[in-house]
Amino acid sequence: MKKMINFTVGPVQSNDLVNDIGSEQVPYFRTQEFSNVMLENERLIKKFVNADEESRVVFITGSGTASMEASVINTLGEKDRVLIVNGGSFGERFVQLCKIHKISYDEIKLDIGKPLTKEILDVYDGNNYTAFLVNMHETSTGVLYDLDLISNYCKKNNLFLIVDAISSFLADEVDMQKYGIDVIITGSQKALACPPGISLIVLSKMALKRIEQTDSLCMYLDLKSALKNGERGQTPFTPAVLILKQINARLNQIEKNGGVKQEIEKTKKLAEYFRNSIKDLPFKMVTESPSNAVTSLYSLNNKANDIFLNLKDNYNIWICPNGGELKDKVFRVGHIGNLSISDYNVLIDALKELKNKGML
Ligand SMILES: *Cc1c(COP(=O)(O)O)cnc(C)c1O
Repeated sequence: MKKMINFTVGPVQSNDLVNDIGSEQVPYFRTQEFSNVMLENERLIKKFVNADEESRVVFITGSGTASMEASVINTLGEKDRVLIVNGGSFGERFVQLCKIHKISYDEIKLDIGKPLTKEILDVYDGNNYTAFLVNMHETSTGVLYDLDLISNYCKKNNLFLIVDAISSFLADEVDMQKYGIDVIITGSQKALACPPGISLIVLSKMALKRIEQTDSLCMYLDLKSALKNGERGQTPFTPAVLILKQINARLNQIEKNGGVKQEIEKTKKLAEYFRNSIKDLPFKMVTESPSNAVTSLYSLNNKANDIFLNLKDNYNIWICPNGGELKDKVFRVGHIGNLSISDYNVLIDALKELKNKGML
């Protein structure tokens, strides 16, 4: 098969360390050795999101959405009134989850690319909400929401704060204590740059209390059982063992290379390099509040999907297409995973060539 360069937002490119583990035999996991791997994973994740001592982490075998669903059904209930930020398909996912699980909610609908502002939030003040659900980075449009603003709003209104940081962890600052976050969700195939299949949930003391008091109506995603098993570094059911080992290698590697700050800085540099290099091309940023993880672009000539296909079929490059009504209008270029400036130069040259051929 041709060697592709992958600029999507997940699954992304892994480095050799991670790839080598992927080719190992799967070890038996009900052992102290594997428990040690899991306990170290928990410790490093807590450190990387600046969670306090009493917080816990559970690892779910399932993609990010499994952990979104687990968070909703284990920490929220019929007494809750939830406020959801819905600025795209991932915000919509939280709305669907609350609908399916009969949790009462209101949604703050945002137009494509628009940030959440204080003026918008003020409209919802004093409405007796109990919880707030947000995708820190709405990956479908590339908007990074202002966590400071959200955090202050939740503190003021005493709201339980659930943050889907699936595409933000290691790309933008996710600080549990600084922002008073109760639940942080992330996944293996975004900036962690491992294969898809594991997602994880960081739970504050308040979240742990809520889980204790909530009857979860799902066996596989029951966090009480996951937490109990996790105390000794185990999971209730067979996990994606190798991915958990890959995550362990990645976390240790990040720790050794200077930690989260370093990782965020690297992502930010790639994003800035790409954004500065495409100023003469017929694109426009979808948002003025972009994350470091992805650059979301309008194709001014409505050729977004053609560009995706052209790069894939003729240049061995994957970028991320959009779906639905944005199909021809928007495409996204990711900055997470094992990518370098020279990879971006290949992409930028390809785009320039397409422009010269009149195909942009
Ligand atoms: C990728 C992503 C998810 C999870 O999607 P899965 O396909 O279930 O892994 C959820 N939220 C955001 C913001 C994401 O970027």
